[in-house]
Order: sequence, then structure tokens, then C-alpha cells
Amino acid sequence: MSSSRAKIVMNDDVISTLAEPRIALARGKAKEIWETLGESKIPVRLQPIITALGIPTRADHLEIDGVCQTDQRGQFLIMYQEDAPVVRQRFTVAHELAHIALEHVSLDGSASSHWSHKAQEAEANAFANELLMPTMDLKTFLKKKDDKRLIEVARRYWVSTAAASVAILHNKLLNKIKIAV
Ligand SMILES: [Zn+2]
Repeated sequence: MSSSRAKIVMNDDVISTLAEPRIALARGKAKEIWETLGESKIPVRLQPIITALGIPTRADHLEIDGVCQTDQRGQFLIMYQEDAPVVRQRFTVAHELAHIALEHVSLDGSASSHWSHKAQEAEANAFANELLMPTMDLKTFLKKKDDKRLIEVARRYWVSTAAASVAILHNKLLNKIKIAV
């Protein structure tokens, strides 16, 4: 019947599918953490930030880059791949921190059902990108007269050139990058 066919069921699955990543919120939260706990310093030191938040971290042999879980004492624990390059570990820790800061995970172990996994990953990556390469500082750094090479940007923030590229493109600063020929 047409009446029943027209009925829309808005269960959690449907909401998850429809939810768009909250990029501005993710970047705003990262900016706030950098300015307060990170004291607006560059390169961003993650250890004092996660210590202030009371989140232990542990390097381990993992199949994946990192994971955020709750330990036996009911505390968050961020684990990251110990064999990964330091710049990748930094991004991973910032990414996992995002899942906590953006409340994708809760201490009782339940996962947020309102945003799809894909949206949560996009938010976590945006958060990590902003936390490690704060827009405000990146714009100032690249505004200087001489164009910078991508590797100089990556070195300043202790990130990979891939992560630096994402921040540069997000902030529409590609014209400030010197392309070596
Ligand atoms: Zn993730």
C-alpha cells in the first residue's frame, strides 16, 4: 500500500548513513586543545597534552597504526604501532585522541551510533591535521615572502609530507609551496 511505503523509518542505521562528518567542529576542538594544553607551541608536543588529559599511551606491535580502547581500570588507553616512523606515530596518537575528544568512544565501551565509521574517521583525521598543523600557524609560516618546500613544512610540524600536503590543500596554500624541478 502506498501509505506504508511512504513511511520513513529513521533508525540509527539510517541516521549513521546520512550523517556528514563535523569537520569544523573537529578542527575547532583541535585548535582549542592546541591553544590551551599545547600552549600554542610549534612543533606541537603531544605528550604534555595527553598527560594533561590523563590518557596513557603505549607503543606495541600492532597489525594497525593505532587503536583507542578502555583498559581494566576503566581508563582510555591509546596504543600505537611501535615500528612506525615517529611522524606517523604522532599522527596516529592525535587521530586516536580525536576519537576520545569528539566522543566517538565512551568509557563504558559503547561506540557512538549517530555518525558512520567513515564520518568518524574523517573527523579524526581533520582533528589530527589541525592539532599537528594549526591553521593559524601554517598560514603565518607560509605567508612569508619566500615560498617553502613541502619538506620544510613537514619538518616544522614533525609530520609526514603526506600530512603536510593535506593541511596545505585544506587551507588553499598550494600557491605558497615551491615545487622543485
Ligand atoms: Zn580512527
